Amino acid sequence: MNFEAFKKISYGLYIVSSKKNSKINGQIANTVFQVSADPPLIAVCINKENLTHEFIENSKVFCISVLAKDAPLRIIGQFGFRSGRDYNKFKNIDYTIGKTGAPIVLSFTIAYLDARVIGNMNVGTHTFFVGKVVDSDIIKKGEPMTYAYYHRVKGGKTPVKAPTYIKEDREVNGLDKYVCKICGYIYDPDKGDPDNGIAPDTMFENLPDDWVCPICGATKDQFEKVKQ
Ligand code: FE
Repeated sequence: MNFEAFKKISYGLYIVSSKKNSKINGQIANTVFQVSADPPLIAVCINKENLTHEFIENSKVFCISVLAKDAPLRIIGQFGFRSGRDYNKFKNIDYTIGKTGAPIVLSFTIAYLDARVIGNMNVGTHTFFVGKVVDSDIIKKGEPMTYAYYHRVKGGKTPVKAPTYIKEDREVNGLDKYVCKICGYIYDPDKGDPDNGIAPDTMFENLPDDWVCPICGATKDQFEKVKQ
């Protein structure tokens, strides 16, 4: 088996949200696609360990918020690399409650599809949920984020619990890159961290002391030099 073949499948990048009683939660997912047009059905695949999975199973609703191409890494980190069990993911996030009761994320998103679950399939580590869209709209003009763009341009990583996780090649070229021991984000001095005001060609050692991992919020001491 050649896992490189799996990487040739294209995806987008989304926030999948749901609710349970009065609580809301959401997570990043790339495995979202339209199943049929009439009725309008969409599908999403969610890890069983995730809080959002518990919420979707309980409320039988989910909302897909489509991330904009220019969404900063920190929003992907906030929803993708932290758990809603010990962190309010909607802190500092602009959102509204949709028709199903699931939250629609309005920060750094361009569209949403709000759905009720009509069926699901147990696929081992994950559950594949199919939902009928009851409401959808454009939030603002813009291009959607693609999974490929997130990885190649934004330098994003795949969480271990994502369906598409394949042990990534951590061999990198060049000097003085640093990897976050918490989430695997690699600080590349050639690129800097423009989302957070760090210009390209800034060495890791010269980052401000209060700089944190743009994905998971870890402090500088949680980084280690990538071995060449
Ligand atoms: Fe990190």
